[in-house]
Amino acid sequence: MITLDILDLPLWEKMKARRALFSFDLEITARCNNDCRHCYINLPAGDRQACSKELTVQEISDIADQAVALGALWVLISGGEPLLRDDFAEIYLLLKKKGLLVSVFTNATLIGTGHIELFRQYPPRDIEVSVYGVTMESYERVTGRPGSFASFMNGLNRLFDNGIKVRLKAMAIRSNFEELPAIAAFCRAHTKDFFRFDSQLHLRFDRNEKRNLMIISERLTPDEFVALERSDAERFSALEKSCDLLVNEKFTYRDDDYLFHCGVGKGSFTVSYDGKFRLCSSLWASGTVYDLRQGKLAEAWNEFVPNIQNMRSCSPEYLGKCRSCAIVNLCLWCPAHADLETGELDRPIDYFCQVAHARADAIEEAARHENIV
Ligand code: SF4
Ligand code: SF4
Repeated sequence: MITLDILDLPLWEKMKARRALFSFDLEITARCNNDCRHCYINLPAGDRQACSKELTVQEISDIADQAVALGALWVLISGGEPLLRDDFAEIYLLLKKKGLLVSVFTNATLIGTGHIELFRQYPPRDIEVSVYGVTMESYERVTGRPGSFASFMNGLNRLFDNGIKVRLKAMAIRSNFEELPAIAAFCRAHTKDFFRFDSQLHLRFDRNEKRNLMIISERLTPDEFVALERSDAERFSALEKSCDLLVNEKFTYRDDDYLFHCGVGKGSFTVSYDGKFRLCSSLWASGTVYDLRQGKLAEAWNEFVPNIQNMRSCSPEYLGKCRSCAIVNLCLWCPAHADLETGELDRPIDYFCQVAHARADAIEEAARHENIV
C-alpha cells in the first residue's frame, strides 16, 4: 500500500518508497558438478569448506518463514547446482509446504527417479534448465566435464517425458557461438512458451582473477553481440519497438546522483549459500551485504535495503557520463556489475559501453532501412 505521505515526495523518492516483497532467490549451494567456463559462482562439487558453510535445512526454513511473513509468494532455488545437496528434496518440500510457488534452476545432469517423483507429486512453478550446447563437443567444451552431455540429455528427457514444466535458456558464449542457431532451434522445438539466451557474462562473485580472465575470453565482441540479437527476429523486433524509449536524448539524471535506478530492493532479494542477504544476486559490494546469520530478515528488508537504495555518487566521471547518457537504457551497466568489473560502484564499464553503442547503431540502421523501404 502506498502511504499518503509519499505523495509529497519527488518522483524518484516515490518510486523507491513503493516496496513490497514478492519473491526471493535462495542459492542453496555454490558447488557444482560442472565447471562451466563462463560461471560466476561455481566451486568444486567436493569443496568441503563450502559445504560446511551452507545454510542448514532449519536455517532455510527460518529465512523462508521470515520471508513469508514479509509477504513473499515465490522462491527460486538456485546454485551452483542445487540438486548436489543430499537434502534438496527436504528443502524443496518445506518451501512448498509454506505455500510458496517454487522454481528451480538446474543444469539437469543430476535429475533422478526420486526428483521426478517429487516434482510429479508436488509440481514446481517451473524448472529452468540451461542448454550450453546440443552436441557433446560444444556442451562439454563449456562445462569442462566429460560425460556431462549424456547426463544432461538424460535429465532433460526425464523432465519432458514426465510432463514437468520446463523452461530453457542458453548462454551465448565464444565456446558455443557457432552452435547458437542449433541451440535456439532445439530450445524452441522443446518449449513452446519460453526460451531466452543471455549474452551478458558476469564476473565472479569471489573475484577470482584467473577465472575472470576466462569469463572475459568467453565474451562475444560487441559486433557479435548485436549480430546475434539481430539474427533473432523476435528479440530484435522487441528491441526496435521500444527504441523510442531506449534511445532518448532527453534522458538524463543530471540532477540526480542516486546510484540505483533499477528495481533493486523493491520486490525481491537473494540469499547466498552461507546466508548473505543481497538486494540482487550480483550486488556484492562492500557495505551492501547483510549477514542473515547475525540478524533478522525484517531488519535487512526494512532498514538495510533503504540505506543501500539511498547510496549516491559524487564521481564526476560517472555523473558526467552514465548519469546523462542518452543510450543508458540500451546499456547493461549497473552499479553491481560496475563493482564486479572495476571495484567501484560508480565507474563506467568499457565493454558494456561498446555493446550499448553497437546496439544503438544497429537500431538506427534498422530504422533507416525501414524508412528507405
Ligand atoms: S552448470 Fe551452472 S552453476 Fe554449474 S558450473 Fe555451469 S553455469 Fe555454473
Ligand atoms: S557505460 Fe557508456 S553506454 Fe553505458 S550508461 Fe555509461 S556512458 Fe552510457
